Amino acid sequence: MQCVQTGLSWNNRFQQLGTDFYTPLAPEPISQPYWVASSLPVAELLGLNPALLHSHELLQGLAGNWPISGTQPLASVYSGHQFGNWAGQLGDGRAILLGEVNGLELQLKGSGLTPYSRMGDGRAVLRSSIREFLCSEAMHGLGIPTTRALCVVGSDDEVWRETLETTAVVTRVAPSFIRFGHFEHFSARRQHDQLKTLADYCLERYAPECLATTADAPNVYVNLLHWASQRTALTLAHWQAVGFCHGVMNTDNMSLLGLTMDYGPFQFLDGYDPDHICNHTDRSGRYAFQAQPSVAHWNLYALAQALMPLMKDQTLAVAALNQFEPSFKSHWHRLMCAKLGLAPAWAATGAEVAEVAEVLPGTPDPAQAALISELLSLLGATRVDYTLFWRRLSVALATQHFEPVRDMFLDRPGFDRWLLHYSELSTHTNKALQADLMLKTNPKYVLRNYMAEEAIRAAKLKDFSVLAHLLQVLQHPFDEHPSAETWAGFPPDWAANIAISCSS
Ligand code: AMP
Ligand code: MG
Repeated sequence: MQCVQTGLSWNNRFQQLGTDFYTPLAPEPISQPYWVASSLPVAELLGLNPALLHSHELLQGLAGNWPISGTQPLASVYSGHQFGNWAGQLGDGRAILLGEVNGLELQLKGSGLTPYSRMGDGRAVLRSSIREFLCSEAMHGLGIPTTRALCVVGSDDEVWRETLETTAVVTRVAPSFIRFGHFEHFSARRQHDQLKTLADYCLERYAPECLATTADAPNVYVNLLHWASQRTALTLAHWQAVGFCHGVMNTDNMSLLGLTMDYGPFQFLDGYDPDHICNHTDRSGRYAFQAQPSVAHWNLYALAQALMPLMKDQTLAVAALNQFEPSFKSHWHRLMCAKLGLAPAWAATGAEVAEVAEVLPGTPDPAQAALISELLSLLGATRVDYTLFWRRLSVALATQHFEPVRDMFLDRPGFDRWLLHYSELSTHTNKALQADLMLKTNPKYVLRNYMAEEAIRAAKLKDFSVLAHLLQVLQHPFDEHPSAETWAGFPPDWAANIAISCSS
């Protein structure tokens, strides 16, 4: 065994918090690892030489077989609420934080037993690792806050899930993997010194703007709650606008930074169904698609409860929590208006499309709000394919040829009435700008379950080309990819039978 040299300069600030927050621990080896996939843009973010993503040394390092020079591996401890119930101590049961490069932390997921593994085996299967890898990069491509993924390495070592599967390790990358559950952990144990250490660390490192108190914002810990809540609101607005269902919004899967994290039974909607449940172990539908924003709000209450010993002021805390809903609604309305290409008149003067999307008014205009809710009712009535509808509408705006969109509806008169309202609301909009905005807002490609499944089936046979192709498409989901037209169409019939559970 040798020490892997990456040429990266490591700096491990989380590790410096001390062992109340983690257990120092090396990953456990896997047999004969092989490269499955890697993301060049993430290598670039880290300043990692991309050639190393083919090297035997780094493969051994990221498989957890050889130590990586400069890293100080550890498993962190957290607690959390699972499906609404207090679950007590959880922690990194199969993840190892290696350390930090360029302000980004690297974590191995599936890297063996830790003191927090409970009944688990510390491993992740190839199937779920590919899903996490692809979706992290797909979400980033869509402009949605998320943890990233550098690579997946596989091994023929077997683990038992619902059947026998092979194991893999994903290298995840994010500014932080701190969860609401980290705060809940120390608060529940009345370890207020550690709670303060953690909050101060987050304030200084991630939210220094919260340290500047004002008459309106006199309490830095309330500011931190407000900050997390605002970031969560933005991410949830993106999820709801793009049709992303997370599946397991337990408080231990909620990032303090509002990043989408811990990809498990997630799903992008096929047909629009607000009550869609993507996790087949979620029998009550707690995490159904349309429940997500209120679940996020509930989770923020759990975070607030945890921070209460530091905030001390319930009135201020509730005021911060109360801003979640208006903030979510305003972001969501803005994103939905962008999907409809409803740019304000001044935007027709040639402003950059990206800028227009940023500054569209967030206060819902009642006529636009009615147009959006009328549309969602129509889409829901016959489960019209969500992604395809928006893309076809964008193309229709560009060509002024609406038949392909109209064909998606059984209730054609209903669609025609809606289209009339839509065109009335966009009479003052520059049509070229509108179409351009829509094509850059409504993705042609999202990671539907069946697409991940195709990549997984090939990867199980050691053919990683489907995965590489899919990654390349999903990194640029608004672009045309002539080689990937079938992925831009309706899902095949067999996709309806894919059942995804928490077990991964
Ligand atoms: P999740 O539902 O994946 O967010 O996991 C909830 C908790 O269970 C976390 O503490 C995970 O680290 C832990 N966990 C999940 N799967 C495993 C596994 N295979 N081995 C060990 N711990 C696991
Ligand atoms: Mg988790």
